[in-house]
Amino acid sequence: MNYQNPDKNGYYGDFGGAFIPEMLYPNVAELQEKYLQIIESAEFQNEFQDLLKNYVGRETPLYFAKNLSEKYGANIYLKREDLNHTGAHKINNALGQALLAKRLGKHRIIAETGAGQHGVATATACALLGLECIVYMGEIDIQRQAPNVARMKMLGAKVVPAKSGSKTLKDAVNEALRDWINNPETTHYIIGSVVGPHPFPDLVARFQSVISKEIKAQLQRKIGRENPDYLIACVGGGSNAAGTFYHYINEPEVKLIAAEAGGLGKDSGESAATTFLGTLGILHGSQSLVMQTEDGQVVEPYSISAGLDYPGIGPMHANLHHQNRAEFFSINDDEALRAAFELTKVEGIIPALESAHALAVLEKKKFEKDDVVVICLSGRGDKDMDTYLKFLSDVR
Ligand SMILES: *Cc1c(COP(=O)(O)O)cnc(C)c1O
Repeated sequence: MNYQNPDKNGYYGDFGGAFIPEMLYPNVAELQEKYLQIIESAEFQNEFQDLLKNYVGRETPLYFAKNLSEKYGANIYLKREDLNHTGAHKINNALGQALLAKRLGKHRIIAETGAGQHGVATATACALLGLECIVYMGEIDIQRQAPNVARMKMLGAKVVPAKSGSKTLKDAVNEALRDWINNPETTHYIIGSVVGPHPFPDLVARFQSVISKEIKAQLQRKIGRENPDYLIACVGGGSNAAGTFYHYINEPEVKLIAAEAGGLGKDSGESAATTFLGTLGILHGSQSLVMQTEDGQVVEPYSISAGLDYPGIGPMHANLHHQNRAEFFSINDDEALRAAFELTKVEGIIPALESAHALAVLEKKKFEKDDVVVICLSGRGDKDMDTYLKFLSDVR
């Protein structure tokens, strides 16, 4: 089975497709028709690769975490996406899509954001490339993520509150889709993860695939072989995981592990563990696993980490789960917090709360002494300091 790319209708096995209102057909059809040709052209790749290197700061290090390795009895490497410009992997995709939008003749960019990381990355790309930028964000998230809202504004973006529903990420996506329907001619929607109608999941996975391309070359240099035994990444929609898995996904000897947000526990009613709680449904333009009631109402997800607080999962990952190609762990808030403090203490790296979910897998999975384990450190923890400080004062 080819797990890497969808078929021509955008399906990974049973998951994917493009379920969109008629008003969006022309936009989505244009993208489907042109995206591969544009992003694979030498002219596009020259500009994109130059920006990744000189603006984003790639390649990011693959760091051998000696202290963590000793503690868990395996060879643990961290892929340092936290060292990218703007602090996470999101910039890889935001820049790629902004370059694509220009070539499609679109000068108005819209985006949705939860924690604000994708909003900041998109506002950054738009400032650099001279594009108008409008970011939809749940009203509650605007209050929770004030520093990122300030960054977006300084970067020249207009931040529009989504006031419907739970006033969080999924409501922001709904608002962004509504905007796109009303402005199809001028506007490109930069979706922030491997979700949405075809071709977005494939488009975003290709822009993030630079992560696994670099891991292969770096492992070859460091240990004389391209393949690790395990790759571990957290999954909200699934873009950092898609990038980490991409060039390994059809190599069965490399084991893939995805960490979802268990929230207060996957059976607690306060969770975002979609592969455990979700059923086949349609959310934001594609068919995938969705947390929903029997009559198809989307259930409110919960996670301490705003970037994983999403009631769905990208179709590539739904297929990896369905085919048992990847193993899924549900990591609860307290486990992620402990993992974040552990990494900080032993390696001097403060991770994003999202990334801490991937790190927490180390407590749950037994590795052999010679195993090579690569964990995607998707982002840095600056934005989560309030949560970390609160945890510190709670445990004292
Ligand atoms: C947004 C975000 C995530 C979750 O998004 P994916 O698309 O699943 O990667 C994970 N880590 C960080 C640091 C993020 O900002």
